[in-house]
Amino acid sequence: MLKEKLEQVETRIANAAARAGRQRSDITLLAVTKKFPAALIREAYQLGLREFGENYVQEFEGKRAELTDCEGSRFHLIGHLQSNKSKIAAEIFDVFQTVDTQKLARRLDAEQKPLDVMIEVKLSAEEAKAGAAPGEVPALVEVIRGCPHLRLLGLMTMPPWSDDAEPSRPYFAKLRALADANGLKQLSMGMSHDLEVAIEEGATIVRIGTALFGPRKKA
Ligand SMILES: *Cc1c(COP(=O)(O)O)cnc(C)c1O
Repeated sequence: MLKEKLEQVETRIANAAARAGRQRSDITLLAVTKKFPAALIREAYQLGLREFGENYVQEFEGKRAELTDCEGSRFHLIGHLQSNKSKIAAEIFDVFQTVDTQKLARRLDAEQKPLDVMIEVKLSAEEAKAGAAPGEVPALVEVIRGCPHLRLLGLMTMPPWSDDAEPSRPYFAKLRALADANGLKQLSMGMSHDLEVAIEEGATIVRIGTALFGPRKKA
């Protein structure tokens, strides 16, 4: 089951990369495992996946303890991080994709652990969504580059939800331009429904949940 779905996702990534004239190896498949048990992460690991995305610190804390044998895995936090949870988060995650304030960057740096971080950018006017405004990005880049324990990889975004893929394209193009303007290489963009468009626009990390694991249970 998971094996077939993984093959389907791999085919989609390979086809999109080929269409865009890009190498498959330049694109990381991040398996988004929120709301699924540790056993499923282990199953994905056994199929060769190594990069996993989780949204909630508390939820992942329990699962992480069951996965100590999954050597070489990297766990990405892709949900909002409250700065009062940064200590525990720094213990269980390797990559923080949702840094959106200078305060949060400094909190993570204060944990004195080498951490990879990305800046989450909010490119739409939707009020509820987290992320730094594009205008705030240059100053945040400066601050993170000045943090001795943080390594800045690039930018992450989540466009407004749509059932179609094409409406995401202008947001992905904007994220890429913003990364170029700030000398950043990694672009975390694209989910199950719009990964092809994201890869065409330069995504280096696609975050895939549903297409691999099926629908999540409602909270
Ligand atoms: C849940 C989630 C995903 C995965 O979305 P799917 O549509 O299930 O592939 C990707 N990115 C973020 C930030 C998420 O919260």
